[in-house]
Amino acid sequence: MATHDRSVPPFDPSLPPDPHRLPPPTEWFSPHAERHLLDRPKFCPMCGSSLDGGLTSEWWVAEERVFLTWCASCRWTGNVVLFDRAIIEEPEH
Ligand SMILES: [Zn+2]
Repeated sequence: MATHDRSVPPFDPSLPPDPHRLPPPTEWFSPHAERHLLDRPKFCPMCGSSLDGGLTSEWWVAEERVFLTWCASCRWTGNVVLFDRAIIEEPEH
């Protein structure tokens, strides 16, 4: 699993505090937390508003990553699922 480059020291006093508060890199779930921040839905699939004020929680079902999503703007709640492959039938035109 590709993660951020850890060879660069994370502390720079000229930068503001990290708003995402990632766990220490030694924690077993640290790479998953980083992937969550990179891959989670950023906008509501119903109204298009930013999900920064909403909720996005993630779990896994086999190879799928499921993001339970709640939008603070329109109150839509649902799952967004990431998967590597899909088999889709397209009707003939
Ligand atoms: Zn919405």
